[in-house]
Amino acid sequence: MRSIVWFRGKDLRLADHRPLTEAAASGEVIPLFVLDPFFFAPERARELPHRLQFLLESLKELETHLAHLGSRLLVVPGRSVDVVPRLAAQWKADQVLAHRWVEPFGRERDRRVAEGLGCEGIAFRLFEGETLLPPGSVRNGQGGMFRVFTPFGRACGAKLDLEPALPVPRALPPLPEGLVIEAVPIPSLEDLALRSNLALQSGGEQAARARLKAFLDGPLADYGTDRDRMDRPGTSRLSADLKFGTLSVRTVWQAAVAAGQGESVRRYLNELLWREFTHHLLWEWPELLEHPFRAGFQGFPWREAEADWQAWTEGRTGYPVVDAAARQLKTEGFVHNRARMVAASFLTKHLLLDYRRGEAHYLRRLTDGDWAQNNAGWQWSAGCGCDAQPWFRIFNPVAQGLAFDPDGTYVKRWVPELADCPTAFIQEPWKAPKALRARLDYPEPIVDHALARQRFLATAKGHLRREAP
Ligand SMILES: Cc1cc2nc3c(=O)[nH]c(=O)nc-3n(C[C@H](O)[C@H](O)[C@H](O)COP(=O)(O)OP(=O)(O)OC[C@H]3O[C@@H](n4cnc5c(N)ncnc54)[C@H](O)[C@@H]3O)c2cc1C
Repeated sequence: MRSIVWFRGKDLRLADHRPLTEAAASGEVIPLFVLDPFFFAPERARELPHRLQFLLESLKELETHLAHLGSRLLVVPGRSVDVVPRLAAQWKADQVLAHRWVEPFGRERDRRVAEGLGCEGIAFRLFEGETLLPPGSVRNGQGGMFRVFTPFGRACGAKLDLEPALPVPRALPPLPEGLVIEAVPIPSLEDLALRSNLALQSGGEQAARARLKAFLDGPLADYGTDRDRMDRPGTSRLSADLKFGTLSVRTVWQAAVAAGQGESVRRYLNELLWREFTHHLLWEWPELLEHPFRAGFQGFPWREAEADWQAWTEGRTGYPVVDAAARQLKTEGFVHNRARMVAASFLTKHLLLDYRRGEAHYLRRLTDGDWAQNNAGWQWSAGCGCDAQPWFRIFNPVAQGLAFDPDGTYVKRWVPELADCPTAFIQEPWKAPKALRARLDYPEPIVDHALARQRFLATAKGHLRREAP
């Protein structure tokens, strides 16, 4: 049996990789990565600098690890719908193995690849692994997908008796002899006209394992209390690893379960179930990438306000947590979850700007930018998503700052103009004495919280009047 194992950017690892394990058990293995010119062109790469850096580092490490096992990663440029069927036929492969993707465009790609391979009589086998449970397999009493997280999480709990994660194969067979190889080297950042950003997390399976261990040995114990604290390193920081698959979600789940039983572990597993929920939602309703979950929000009268948009993206709104989030994103390609919620709520509710603009901006800039989780996070924050809470809940950025960054440590780290602002005013510097304000070089708030709140409520009520809140 000759198998192509097609690595596709969400499974850049050797551990717990079912397509690789199955292929190795059944004969010859050809590891393949397709470099789609759409993503790997400098014009496009410029838009996704953080994700590309992480991806290229992970790919490079995968290449090295495959070589250590006796194989070789073939990196081939082109569009996968053309390249995969053509190479599979040329290389006389019996089957192509890969992990399933949840996103609609990934499903469409796979449909076309399956069609192309089918014409050549070559099997295309997709394996689960992006989620803990196969998308579409967690159903409510009526056989449909859950519309609310809590019962979904409960239903998952009953099914989560997972098989153990698979080990890294001890060795792999060499590439079959006589293959005509049209592989190219993995591009460097310079090839894509990008500069290395040292503030980003390192890609690759090894760094991912080290992050997991550091989390299990440290922050996990207090995760239940610290996960919301923007001023503390209280979360796992594994989101990019889960997005690019340098760790499988099953590995992370099982490691957390093995770590103990307490409230912190329960809360952590619950977050992994939120991730699960967002993927199952997108599987069920692929149109979510285009349309709001709550149909009443269709055609919502979002404002066009370029100056407000600029202030929000540059971190110059005058609201410290909102601005810290914008600057953390720009520098580190990451934003703390609480700050994401505050910033997204501010953009959509205080500024009345379209959540899809914020969603696209985050997707470009986040290293962990993931279609399912990002879309769900933005829709949830805008009030039009899948949420047990009503749409009219509006975060107060000052109250959020006081509760989850009480000394202003997070704000001061990312908004250095406020480094000398006394703690008493750090979340609302406009209340500081005038002389101090003059020294801070920090903008006045671009909107008044109470007025902006009223504006959102009035606009949303007007738009939703035919739908009960
Ligand atoms: C507006 C907005 C946009 C977001 N965009 C993304 C995104 O593009 N990619 C992404 O991975 N997460 C996204 N999230 C969810 C969340 O903010 C991040 O997963 C989290 O901050 C990552 O940090 P961590 O790994 O330390 O999380 P931890 O607290 O350690 O959580 C562990 C894992 O659980 C998952 N998770 C945690 N919180 C959530 C959540 N609320 N929804 C779904 N999954 C969750 C993540 O995979 C995370 O790595 C978004 C949230 C919001 C409000």
